Amino acid sequence: MSNPSLLILAGDGIGPEVMDQVKRIITWYGDKRDLHIDVSEDLVGGAAYDAHGTPLHDDTMARAQEVDAVLLGAVGGPKYDDLDFSVKPERGLLRLRKEMDLFANLRPAQCFDALADFSSLKKELVAGLDILIVRELTSGVYFGEPRGIHIEDNMRVGVNTQRYTEAEIERGARAAFEMAMKRDKKLCSMEKANVMESGILWRDVVTEVHADYPEVELSHMYADNGAMQLVRAPKQFDVIYTDNLFGDILSDCAAMLTGSLGMLPSASLGVPMANGRPKAMYEPVHGSAPDITGQGKANPIACTLSFAMALRYSYDQGDEATRLEDAIEKVLADGVRTADLMGPDGGTPVSTSEMGDAILAALDASL
Ligand code: NAD
Repeated sequence: MSNPSLLILAGDGIGPEVMDQVKRIITWYGDKRDLHIDVSEDLVGGAAYDAHGTPLHDDTMARAQEVDAVLLGAVGGPKYDDLDFSVKPERGLLRLRKEMDLFANLRPAQCFDALADFSSLKKELVAGLDILIVRELTSGVYFGEPRGIHIEDNMRVGVNTQRYTEAEIERGARAAFEMAMKRDKKLCSMEKANVMESGILWRDVVTEVHADYPEVELSHMYADNGAMQLVRAPKQFDVIYTDNLFGDILSDCAAMLTGSLGMLPSASLGVPMANGRPKAMYEPVHGSAPDITGQGKANPIACTLSFAMALRYSYDQGDEATRLEDAIEKVLADGVRTADLMGPDGGTPVSTSEMGDAILAALDASL
């Protein structure tokens, strides 16, 4: 059988810095676990714009369609802020998501015990927190037509359209129910059925899909209440399923429960390929962090945990994913911290590569 494949798109800013540490971990798996991954690399975002005048070259798009998984660092930065909307770095990311048809975005919010004090919420509210937000990613108001800015009665009008078909709602719902089946079998669907027709349809379709997953306890919540509940009592949730716009906001809100953007991985999954596994792209939630780029301060854990998700969902290596997550848990429990994880009491932060060293040492110790 051929090796599993991975296309690395490190991108801009701290993207290449955190990716360097993940590459060391991939090498470790080949050397120490006989788990060989065929890695190729390419450009995305501002880096691709600088080289090709587009944030994603067609050849890169074609390669992304062929591999078992894509691992992306981050895109964007002040240098590209004034570019035309059509060639902004983020367009490269949106094109990957759209053309790979990555309709289910998985964002876990897990609170490592050693970091419970760093959450903006009280420790008892977040210690042991483990929730998963499944966000519909390829439709809704970010893509709906009509859109644009036009003139009406001598005034500029901005228009975006929230649009969902039942098929789009259903396939995301199935992904969310499947995840719930692998976890605590609780799913909360969030929309605004009180004020939006698309929300009424959302609630109806999720309820219909529930018939195929009777073991899962389904609840519905208005998304604004969901935001409140996430900061009031986040542990009430197991899996949350919501649309593209609400998911963008709610998952950032959940992110803050866990302490630092530098800790948060994500996966975006699409339809199954010939080998039965979904098309997939993995990426840290954080951006390119221009304020710390090139200073060795970036936390590589979010990108590393994204690779752990690839091990689990794209390579069927759940045990190895757990090994990597446990290694990170151990490093944090030992008090190793990048600057973003330093509390008010201070201490000496480690650099990006020193955090990589510590994770590799913990992996060695796991053998
Ligand atoms: P950001 O996530 O880049 O940074 C927000 C804050 O978190 C900064 O203070 C940064 O230093 C810190 N931070 C982020 N990741 C960190 C890490 N791994 N370790 C330590 N600290 C970390 O968000 P922003 O500042 O709003 O955006 C900067 C650029 O990134 C913009 O061009 C934006 O468009 C882009 N962006 C890209 C993505 C993506 O590639 N998926 C996501 C969000 C923003």
